[in-house]
Amino acid sequence: MIGSRKHDGREELASAARHADGAYEHVRIDTAFAISLFAVCLIGIKAQPHLGLASFWPANAYMLGMLVRFPRLNTSSAWILCAIGFVMADLITGASLARNMALNGGNLAAIGAAHRLLRAVSQRDRRLKGQNSTFHILKAILAGSFVAGLFGIVANPLLFGGTSGEGFLFWTVTELVNYVTFLPLLLTLPEARAWTFSAMRDRLDQFSAGSALPLIALVASVAASIAIGGPGAGLFPLPALLWCGLAYNLFSTACISFIFAIWTIFAGRMGILWSGADFASRADLISIRLGVSLVAFTPIVLGSMAAARDELLQRLRMLADRDAMTGLYSRRAFIEAGTDALRKAARRGEPTAVMMLDIDHFKSVNDRYGHKGGDQVLTVFASILQGAVRSKDVVGRIGGEEFAVVLPDCCSINAASVAERINRTLRSTVATLENGEAVQVTVSIGIYVEHMDSTLEKPLMYADEALYRAKNIGRDRFEIWTQAPAPSQHRGFAVHQ
Ligand code: GH3
Ligand code: MG
Ligand code: MG
Repeated sequence: MIGSRKHDGREELASAARHADGAYEHVRIDTAFAISLFAVCLIGIKAQPHLGLASFWPANAYMLGMLVRFPRLNTSSAWILCAIGFVMADLITGASLARNMALNGGNLAAIGAAHRLLRAVSQRDRRLKGQNSTFHILKAILAGSFVAGLFGIVANPLLFGGTSGEGFLFWTVTELVNYVTFLPLLLTLPEARAWTFSAMRDRLDQFSAGSALPLIALVASVAASIAIGGPGAGLFPLPALLWCGLAYNLFSTACISFIFAIWTIFAGRMGILWSGADFASRADLISIRLGVSLVAFTPIVLGSMAAARDELLQRLRMLADRDAMTGLYSRRAFIEAGTDALRKAARRGEPTAVMMLDIDHFKSVNDRYGHKGGDQVLTVFASILQGAVRSKDVVGRIGGEEFAVVLPDCCSINAASVAERINRTLRSTVATLENGEAVQVTVSIGIYVEHMDSTLEKPLMYADEALYRAKNIGRDRFEIWTQAPAPSQHRGFAVHQ
């Protein structure tokens, strides 16, 4: 009894400690979020007089984007801390308390309205990857902007001595322009795994001189708009922008559009573009900003539709490339993906191991457990195989009960230990069939390690020779093809069991 109470006490303590740790972690995350928002507010406040952009205010879009991208941030404590962040930023830059409250009340109400609508939008649309994503996002943004406009009706006469109508228009449009300019950057921000060194190296590998063309066209058309000028100059880059939207991924497109929008406003203000525009007039400024941000949004609309189409193609490709029973690459797709992996490794000077695997005495498995039982064994084997290799290895089902793996950046010692692991796992695995029967199989493996070649033909042939040898020696083992000639024959084989 005492023992059990003691135990309960420890459990309670441990659970309380876990709870406290979780709460502490939350406070830390919320505080970091609010501090980053405070910093973005300061950037907005400092940049306004410098850039002469009375309507440059990234903070609302930043807070909204963060809440949408990282829903865990949406807690009441985060909202309170962010509200403090907004107020503090204005206070330390000398705004009066009344102005501070009116402006920040408007900010939070607008963010809240847009966030409410965005929360109802599917995850895919929030990432701008659906056919109608931009429509859903714009709907939410318009709702937020409308709420900001309502605050403008009161705030404009009260704080700036203007009319309510002008206040409504100015607040609504300013909010809209800021969301349209900044929000796509956060919504399309790639997941953490896209920022790893190897992911970046893969992207660099895919980069070719041709992929820079849309960007070069954009820079050239911006240069032409400066050289030629006139009222239409701001639209010169439109075709190149649309090309970028189709050619690049969504995040790159969002970055390009953002830079284009900021540059165009800045260049306009400096008199490099549109010599006739009056940047001191609120009406002209709003018209130009709205025009520029909507032009900058067009490649995102296009890119978003292209992303939806790409995803559909990828799904179809997946269906075409994968073996329906095991989910591994089918023979044709394996050759394609394996060749690609082999080529990349050869370019980096890394060895690539190619493995052929054939389940032992599979005919008798079929004879004993039926074809259906055999199929279930194949599925179990496929998942053991996939689990035994790294995610970058290419695994395929190239025949009935024949499989192959391309292992880039893998020397013979590593390949041998992978093969050994597969043999060992299989020896200790008993697959339970749907009818409850237990089946155990073994596999024979042939390995060839390639250094230079960029086609799979020869490596597969030699791996198959090694596999044949493994079968002959007695099965349930692996063999590595080596070039060292044995005394009595032309080719030698290293034997492992
Ligand atoms: P070993 O490889 O050890 O020499 O003997 P084995 O019995 O495995 O010989 P073999 O490779 O010639 O036989 C392969 C068998 O696999 C023949 C075929 O009936 C069976 N098989 C091929 N595809 C499938 C499939 O999709 N499902 C099932 N259940 N069996 C298949
Ligand atoms: Mg076979
Ligand atoms: Mg076989």
